[in-house]
Amino acid sequence: MRRVVVVGGGVAGSIVAQSLQFCADVVLIDQKEYFEIAWGTSRAMVMPSFAERIVINHSDYLRNVKIVASTAVDVTDTQVSTADGQSLPYDYLVIATGHKDFFPKTREERLGQYEAEYEKIKSANSILIVGGGPTGVELAGEIVYDFPEKKVTMVHSGARLLEFVDSKASQKALDWLISKNVEVLLGQSVNVDGVSDGHFQTSKGETIKADRHYVCTGKPVGSSWLTETVLKDSLGIHGRLMVDEHLRVRGHKNVFGIGDITDVKERKHRYIAQKHAQVAVKNLKVLLVGGKESKMAKYKNFLEATLVSLGRKEGVAQFPFVTISGCIPGKIKSEDLFVSKTRKQLGLKPDC
Ligand SMILES: Cc1cc2nc3c(=O)[nH]c(=O)nc-3n(C[C@H](O)[C@H](O)[C@H](O)COP(=O)(O)OP(=O)(O)OC[C@H]3O[C@@H](n4cnc5c(N)ncnc54)[C@H](O)[C@@H]3O)c2cc1C
Repeated sequence: MRRVVVVGGGVAGSIVAQSLQFCADVVLIDQKEYFEIAWGTSRAMVMPSFAERIVINHSDYLRNVKIVASTAVDVTDTQVSTADGQSLPYDYLVIATGHKDFFPKTREERLGQYEAEYEKIKSANSILIVGGGPTGVELAGEIVYDFPEKKVTMVHSGARLLEFVDSKASQKALDWLISKNVEVLLGQSVNVDGVSDGHFQTSKGETIKADRHYVCTGKPVGSSWLTETVLKDSLGIHGRLMVDEHLRVRGHKNVFGIGDITDVKERKHRYIAQKHAQVAVKNLKVLLVGGKESKMAKYKNFLEATLVSLGRKEGVAQFPFVTISGCIPGKIKSEDLFVSKTRKQLGLKPDC
């Protein structure tokens, strides 16, 4: 059987590994032993039982895949090397290392982190959230939903929250947060580095006192491990992996790049990463049986929708031609954050 190595066990990589596990010898290299449903993290921080549902060992949904829980550090034309000294040869390679982040290796350690974070949030009187994008807004929503007595402050450098939705929807999100007594400071930034006494200075000279703080701004692309490898010339602006219409890495016929790491011009979302994975799976299935390249599928951008939860019952949603807020987006997303759906897609029960 031909060998497929997938690097990155997030949204995109896990789908490819699962879909090809009976068509090839598949190896999944991930820096951790589990898949984590990223869009459930803010709820998991205030509800440890939710964390149990979003942190899923790769071995629970991959029946016929060799799982290597180590960081990939190098790639040549024929193999990938890992930090723990393994060399994994491939016929086809899929790079899906998303954004740079640090996670503990085991599910138990990760659940322990969520439990500890929950205790810290519970015991804090005041909380600072830096960043008013979807992650910051959703985290604030979760905290005020479960802990309405806490003083929550959000600092956002932009002129309005959720700048990718239209201004009416971003105003709705702002109004909702204010109605829950969140103090929102727009057009300001705050540097949290080196602050140990809980007093944070904003760029406009305001002082915010906070027992806990969370930085919810963007993370760099997870491609730094590629900069000295055979793929270095395929890294474009901001370290994004340049791919062609079939999602193959430019200049490399047997290497695919999918998910957040790619340079496809579109917002980076879970369902887009899923779509990339589906296209790569189709194309790999063609190549694995010696099919013609002309049979390969092309990836097409599609109209995007974005939903941001506001607590557990409300939300804002930006669809291609309309923006809505309130309990309809709340019903679609906020109640379960698509966690049951994602678990079912992996072949698992909605609950643990
Ligand atoms: C907090 C948060 C909330 C989000 N909320 C939403 C939302 O509500 N809706 C939505 O549509 N999208 C949301 N997203 C975005 C969505 O999660 C991403 O678009 C999606 O996860 C991208 O999938 P990916 O497979 O490209 O990367 P990821 O899912 O990030 O997976 C990357 C994987 O690569 C691994 N990895 C990285 N480097 C290495 C290495 N060198 N060696 C081995 N393994 C490596 C990581 O461990 C990780 O498992 C959210 C993201 C975050 C972080």
